[in-house]
Amino acid sequence: MERSCTMTPYERLVAIDQAHVWHPFTQMKDYNQSDPLIIERGEGVMLYDVQGRAYYDGFSSVWLNVHGHNVPELNEAITAQLGRVAHSTLLGMANIPAIELAEKLVEITPQGLTKVFYSDAGATGVEIAVKMAFQYWMNLGKTSKTKFITMNQAYHGDTIGAVSVGAIPLYHDVFRPMLFPSYVVPYPYAYRHERGAHGAKEATLSELRKILETSAHEIAAMIVEPIVQGASGIIVMPEGCLREMATLCREYDVLFIADEVATGFGRTGMMFACDHEEVSPDLMVVGKGLTGGYLPVAATLATEEVYRAFYADYEEQKTFFHGHSFTGNPLGCAVALASLKRFEDHRMLDAVRRKALLVEHKLRAIQDAPHVGEIRQKGLMVGIELVKDKSTRQAYEWAERIGVRVTGRARELGMLTRPLGHVVVFMPPLASTDAELDAMTDILMKAIIDVTEGGRVR
Ligand SMILES: *Cc1c(COP(=O)(O)O)cnc(C)c1O
Repeated sequence: MERSCTMTPYERLVAIDQAHVWHPFTQMKDYNQSDPLIIERGEGVMLYDVQGRAYYDGFSSVWLNVHGHNVPELNEAITAQLGRVAHSTLLGMANIPAIELAEKLVEITPQGLTKVFYSDAGATGVEIAVKMAFQYWMNLGKTSKTKFITMNQAYHGDTIGAVSVGAIPLYHDVFRPMLFPSYVVPYPYAYRHERGAHGAKEATLSELRKILETSAHEIAAMIVEPIVQGASGIIVMPEGCLREMATLCREYDVLFIADEVATGFGRTGMMFACDHEEVSPDLMVVGKGLTGGYLPVAATLATEEVYRAFYADYEEQKTFFHGHSFTGNPLGCAVALASLKRFEDHRMLDAVRRKALLVEHKLRAIQDAPHVGEIRQKGLMVGIELVKDKSTRQAYEWAERIGVRVTGRARELGMLTRPLGHVVVFMPPLASTDAELDAMTDILMKAIIDVTEGGRVR
């Protein structure tokens, strides 16, 4: 690759990026023909690219960011810890921030969760929950309980165990031959169920009951994205469904795993989505917002009961033989503690609930637009499903790239987000001010109208 000295700094970065970086969830053929966005810095809810253009971070840098970018308190938590030690292992020893964060997590998560197992991504957190659930039953001598239940269109991350309990055909089908099979219950997708929310919920619960009645003896656990299924298109569960699923699993002696990677830390208006229905899972996975979106830390929380099944004499070999090099990273745990302190200092949960109402009111302006099928929202987690025909709910063709075109238009108007197929996602940092939310929703709505109604003129 020739890098001429007449290139601008931007052109030089693009040339190297295209020559050497393989981007995740990105068709590189499209990417290499586009005009790539290269972020240089962030400040509050804004991101700035190397050409000096400013953008609202309308998807919290893929659902992570909580307090905005470059927040002095969070930066200081990292640099203070950096002056002590950047990393030391949790294998057979401990560090101060990991201990303090574990205490805090146990305090704020649903009742019954008392043990914290760290890792470094949502997917690894899920992988750990799946392996813990499996080995839990092995350690108890119930060796027939080896299978899992998941929900249709579920997403739990991209490692092989997490993909095995995933059910999004586009992402997962190609790997099917290398995965372990899971039971799949329908996700209650009210908008696309002929009997609406009630019918969808009944279908889910009756299918779950059927599987449990016939097969609970061979099932270790059920894994669920509580209240909001994220990657499938921000689909909100009918009320009571989560609670009833958890109760059914308990009744049939199947562990209940809550994957709160997307929904955790205030995103849905409660600290955790499980809190909406007072559900206490046996295992819970957190990631994304845990560090305020600053550093890669995830955690799998377990109950005393799960933990006890592993607690034995050394010779019994009931140890959980799992760990990652960066498990319990002190820098990440330190910034997570600072982030959680900010939640309290700034009364973030109250603020999220209030701001969610503001966004809901604003978005009403497009609810009758001819291609807005459904606006789904829980807290500051919003998905707008676009349809070709509103009356028949006919979906756009894949090749029309409707979501991609809308988010492309939003970028031109100064806001970043990523679509999920024909669903446009809006997940602003929780700390966004009213004025910022006002500006972001304006861009979001204009982008949708421009693309779905206007076509658009460059
Ligand atoms: C993002 C996500 C994951 C995966 O987390 P990574 O940190 O990307 O591995 C798992 N579960 C849910 C619900 C998610 O949204």
